[in-house]
Amino acid sequence: MAIADNILYFDEQLRNTPCRLVAVSKTHPVAAIQEAYDAGHRLFGENKVQELVEKYEQLPHDISWHLIGHLQTNKVKQIAGFINTIESVDSLRLLEEINRRAEMFGRTLPINCLLQIAIADEETKYGMTYEDAVALLQSEEYRAMKYIRIVGVMGIATNTDDEAKLRQEFRYLRYCFEQLRDTFFHANLDFCELSMGMTSDWKIALEEGSTLLRVGSGVFGARDYSK
Ligand SMILES: *Cc1c(COP(=O)(O)O)cnc(C)c1O
Repeated sequence: MAIADNILYFDEQLRNTPCRLVAVSKTHPVAAIQEAYDAGHRLFGENKVQELVEKYEQLPHDISWHLIGHLQTNKVKQIAGFINTIESVDSLRLLEEINRRAEMFGRTLPINCLLQIAIADEETKYGMTYEDAVALLQSEEYRAMKYIRIVGVMGIATNTDDEAKLRQEFRYLRYCFEQLRDTFFHANLDFCELSMGMTSDWKIALEEGSTLLRVGSGVFGARDYSK
């Protein structure tokens, strides 16, 4: 199916829900993103800094870019001027660097950040524990930050067809989200994003309360890593 058709399909699926589509364009060319853009889509995700910067420079600047992959502190400066949301914050140290760079760029809007929580079995996946997230939000350092805004949590489920297991992991992430919201954000409505669900499991994630689906191949087709 054509990219524009896939965008329209998700528009329809998500109509009347609080959930939005992050079209994950990693490995796909600028022309593919432009096609989704021309179909009206404005929210895209990339997982590598270099690739993101190159695409940002070539595409219209009303796109909201989400970084969804692991971010090294020494690369924050490359994206701090334009990034809308960093979904993969996994340490206080990284958050401090994001805040510092956002201030240096004199941003008028803070950088939105999601705390990435490890919910899968695989140890290779990045992310912090719920307890790490609590410690971060309790820290003096976080409280003093003015140029970032923590808007929710993100998680990557185990790569499996086991629906019960996926559901359990999504429910755990939702539980973390609700606990953090009720403990630290009270009446602050900024904390509203639950980023979970990809091409293979987005329907389950949506049922479990996702507000950001990160869908790559389901929009752009299969990725070719050989190129
Ligand atoms: C690549 C990627 C996705 C999208 O994966 P698909 O299976 O193509 O939908 C979602 N989230 C993260 C963090 C990714 O790196």
